[in-house]
Amino acid sequence: MAERPLDLHGRPLGVLRLSLTARCNLACPYCCPDVEDPPDLLTLPERVALVEATVGLGVHTLRLTGGEPLLHRHLEELIASLQPLRQRDPSDPRGALREIALTSNGVLLSADRARQLKAAGLDRITLSLDGTDGASVARMAGLGGAAAGGAVLEKVLAAIGHARQAGFDPARGALKLNAVITRSGNADQLLPLAELARQQGLELRLIEFMDVGNRNGWAPEQVLPAAEMVARIGAVWPLEPVGRSPHGTASRWRYRDRDGTHLAVVASITAPFCGDCNRLRITADGVAYSCLFAGSGTDLRPWLRPLPEPARLRQALEGLWRARRDRWSEERLEAAAQRPAPAEMAYLGG
Ligand code: SAM
Ligand code: SF4
Repeated sequence: MAERPLDLHGRPLGVLRLSLTARCNLACPYCCPDVEDPPDLLTLPERVALVEATVGLGVHTLRLTGGEPLLHRHLEELIASLQPLRQRDPSDPRGALREIALTSNGVLLSADRARQLKAAGLDRITLSLDGTDGASVARMAGLGGAAAGGAVLEKVLAAIGHARQAGFDPARGALKLNAVITRSGNADQLLPLAELARQQGLELRLIEFMDVGNRNGWAPEQVLPAAEMVARIGAVWPLEPVGRSPHGTASRWRYRDRDGTHLAVVASITAPFCGDCNRLRITADGVAYSCLFAGSGTDLRPWLRPLPEPARLRQALEGLWRARRDRWSEERLEAAAQRPAPAEMAYLGG
């Protein structure tokens, strides 16, 4: 493979998070998705060109996200169109895409949809669920009441079954559960969520409430530190640390009484991992952000229209990566640095 660019802190590019829409069928208050998509979304060929260009710069893993990516009509077509990038030899100078993953709230993941995604070539699904009873789900998903929350919960539980049936095997890390925990919202759901995940043999990834965007009412006292989450769960089901993989976001723990089932925590606030962050984010309308907490991004559409120009696109992305200096989360921890109003989570895609 051709030489991979490093950013100003010596970090390589490895993961592309591509948001397909900023819209969502839920309205989680910690996320506050857009009601409408921005105008002028990228087309399928433009997205394929972008992925191909980033693969040439070192991207090996693509995560499709949103808003809610299952709202996107061409999701399966996009995944299928990317398969030629998977079949390349790892020594190919143009790079090779090793993995395609999806993050979804699961509400629209029917048995058919799960099979279609698998057939298109999706490798992994992470489903987000923040509670195990109707009232908690309703509170965390911004729904009207316990009945509406219960209906969503039922759909997500069914989605776990559909994904498993379609061949997304939790034992191989192909099916996981995400939960955002806030102190007043769902801290009481820690043990029930851990129990559900243990019963289902799923890795549960507990995410600290992040101050992404400027309309989710973030306050430091609402953050339940990852260490506290681990302590509370470990007091019931003893845990031993596995660690954080290089460039990974999650620190993992093994249940002492269960072979192969893990708990993971994403401590972006209390223990940031900017030092080896290898992620680039591109929004549904083609704006590249080199950090989840960045205030502004680079509009890539000039290099995609009227037709994608691979060499110039690659050059633009390479320039962007080489100039990257973001380490917002670490800086906040070090100095509570002032920063501009950041972009919203559903626009950026998490
Ligand atoms: N709609 C999909 C979902 O919920 O999985 C994909 C998009 S969502 C923005 C991606 C992930 O970001 C989800 O797991 C969600 O829980 C998480 N997330 C959203 N807002 C967050 C926040 N303020 N802090 C921490 N995680 C957040
Ligand atoms: Fe939608 Fe996901 Fe945001 Fe919840 S976290 S509002 S499901 S995009």
